Amino acid sequence: MRKTRQRQVILEELGKVNTHPTAAELCTMVRRRMPHISLGTVYRNLDILSRSGAIARIDVGGEEMRFDAAVSRHYHLRCLRCGSVEDVDLPVMGSTLEEAAAKLCQAQVCGHNLEFVGYCRNCCAREVGF
Ligand SMILES: [Zn+2]
Ligand SMILES: [Zn+2]
Repeated sequence: MRKTRQRQVILEELGKVNTHPTAAELCTMVRRRMPHISLGTVYRNLDILSRSGAIARIDVGGEEMRFDAAVSRHYHLRCLRCGSVEDVDLPVMGSTLEEAAAKLCQAQVCGHNLEFVGYCRNCCAREVGF
């Protein structure tokens, strides 16, 4: 029962933000409601939740794993300066791109990963003439 409750709180906290928090960031958020929860517990629950498809796990190029409550496919922009990850509201390029790749490689293509990289709005505002 306690385990289910922990998972529920983690899911709720993740659903409140669109900042794609890391497990450590999410742990800080969850601790406001469950002060004694450990980072290990948060990790374990995030693993279970992402395996079951309840949340999305975002692999950002070699960086720390981030998590997203939005499981429908969408693109992300990763800031090279502050490391923030935000949603890019673009339609996901589907079969056309994948079919083209399949043809070139004479392979079966099941999907694609695309990540935008650059500098976020905040970082651009901080740097004059950036
Ligand atoms: Zn930034
Ligand atoms: Zn996202």
